[in-house]
Parts: sequence; C-alpha cells; structure tokens
Amino acid sequence: MKAITFQGIRSVALSNVPDPKIISESDAIIKVELAAICGSDMHVYHGRETGIDPGTIMGHEFTGTVIEIGQAVKNFSVNDRVLSPFTINCGECYFCQIGLTARCVHSHLYGWIENGKGLHGVHTEYVRVPMADGTLVRLPDDISWEQAALLADIASTGYFGADMANIKETNTCIIIGCGPVGIMAVKTVKYFGAKTIFAIDSIPFRLDFAQRNGAIPVNSSTENIKEIIREATSGVGADCIIEAVGSSSSMKSSFELLRPGGILASVGVQAFGQLPFSPPDMYDKNIILKTGRCSSRYYSEKLMPLIQNGDLNVTDVITHTFGLAKGVEAYRFFDEEKDRCLKVLLKPG
Ligand SMILES: [Zn+2]
Ligand SMILES: [Zn+2]
Repeated sequence: MKAITFQGIRSVALSNVPDPKIISESDAIIKVELAAICGSDMHVYHGRETGIDPGTIMGHEFTGTVIEIGQAVKNFSVNDRVLSPFTINCGECYFCQIGLTARCVHSHLYGWIENGKGLHGVHTEYVRVPMADGTLVRLPDDISWEQAALLADIASTGYFGADMANIKETNTCIIIGCGPVGIMAVKTVKYFGAKTIFAIDSIPFRLDFAQRNGAIPVNSSTENIKEIIREATSGVGADCIIEAVGSSSSMKSSFELLRPGGILASVGVQAFGQLPFSPPDMYDKNIILKTGRCSSRYYSEKLMPLIQNGDLNVTDVITHTFGLAKGVEAYRFFDEEKDRCLKVLLKPG
C-alpha cells in the first residue's frame, strides 16, 4: 500500500509499505476513508519533536471502515464505519474508566515509532488498530467521514479546552491561536454561552474565520491586546483563556491577560522547556493552570450528538483535500500555509 513516511527534517515521502496484519487478537484493520494533517504533524516534520524512526508512517487523524477483526474483538464487525481517536486505549484501566483515555496505561500515539517501538501513522490506506474494542468509536449513519475525521482530534481538542476552561455565561474568554483547534474552541465556547469571546492570532484570514464564528478578533501583530482586554473587562482581566498554540510567548500572554483566580486551559502541544511565569507568579495571581493531551476517545462521543443535532458545525474549517498520492505536496502546502489553508484532508484512492 501507499503511505506518507517520515524521512528526516522537512522530508516526507510517498512510499510503498507492507499492508498491516492482525498481530494481536484485539486488533482491527481499518480501511482509511479520510485522514487529516494536523498542526502537531508539523512538530515532527520540522524536527521540533525528535526521535521518530525514518520510515514511520505519518499522521494520527483518521476515520474509516473495519475490514478485518481479531478473534477477541467483540464490539465491532467488518464493514462498520468507525473513527479512531489519535491515541489508542484499552477501555479497561483506571484512566479509561474515568474518561482520561489519553492517559490509558496502554496508550500509544499513532505515527510515532521510536527505536522500532510504537505505532505507525494513518496517512496511508490501511491501519492496524490495537485494542480495537477500547479505542474505536462507531459512527452513526448521519455522521460524515469529514465530521468523523475532525472528531478524531481537533474538534475534540477544542471542546476539551472549553471544558477545562469551565465556561460560564458571565465569562470573558480569550482563545489564543486561531488554527483549527482554536477555531473549534471558539465554536464550543460560543455554544457554552460565554458572554464575550476574544480570538487572538496574527494571520488575518484566521481572525476573519474566528469572527464569523462569534469571536471579537484581535491581531497580535498590529493591535495592543493588553489594552483591549483591560478596557473590555474594566481592568479585571479575562476569566479564562484557551491557549491553542503551545509556545512560550503565547503562555506568557495568557498569564498576563488572565484575571486573578482565572483559568488558563492550554491545549497547544507544549514544545518548549520552561514556563514563562514562576510558581510565585502563579501563587500571587491565584491562577488555575490546566493542560494536557485531549482524551479524544472520551470527548468524541460527547461531541457527536452536538454535531448530529446541528449545534456545532465543524466541517467549515476544512479548506483543502488532497489525494494520498499528492500527500508530500499536501505537507508542503500545509507547512507554508498556502492559499488560506486551515485544515487539510488526505483521501486515499
Ligand atoms: Zn492532530
Ligand atoms: Zn486504558
């Protein structure tokens, strides 16, 4: 089968790789119907996160059809439409039971093989899903492949950010970073009914998008954010911030814009060494810092009904779809943020 594989920094290739096989009785093989490129694939692409073996299949967001199951798989059959969260989980351990599926004791991230150990990614035609009963989520007929591909990570992660931020109707909430996850956070915060929503980014088309979804846009490179938030909150600061970048500077801005006692919910993949504020800084402002990988197995199920009944439209973030054969070009395109691209899908076949 064809797959987009990691070759080195800023280098991916369209490769011929062996079809996956059932290894354990709890495995399922999924035919990929739709996959998506994620901002965090770019951490690998740029070498900001290192350690992946060359030849590893890239990607972690996908949805598809079950074509084969191991003997121990009870909850799924061949031809079932499913989505997989971006990490696999057993469904049985303490963390799976409390909904923290991203911290399942058997968890693995797709697209991460290091020193020969780990899981291949999903930017390919067929994927082996270990612990299929715990990991996979069945798709109702009225959930499209596009919706499911977004539920695998970004829609769930945006919702997770808003959930951690504990949105109340009186709140002023700021979303920092208007990539796909930030936009999903804007949509969810709007759905939860926050009084005022600000969206911060430096790219005008992303800000336009956030505005269309109910946020007041603030351009971080041309406007004085601190002044705008101070004025909007009578000097108090924002009640909650959803940080969807994962940089030291956006964490610093978050800290500065937050009111004492506010919640900083960070869902950006943290790729830096030290927080730009200290424990005494946090103590002196009584801030609540929440962060971590989204348990998208848990959140995708919570979100599905909101998409089904039309409360949340998620697919408008999809701006481009490439065939898998053009996957290398798609990576370059996404990396260079060409043609106002926000979310790029990959379609096998
Ligand atoms: Zn992702
Ligand atoms: Zn588990």
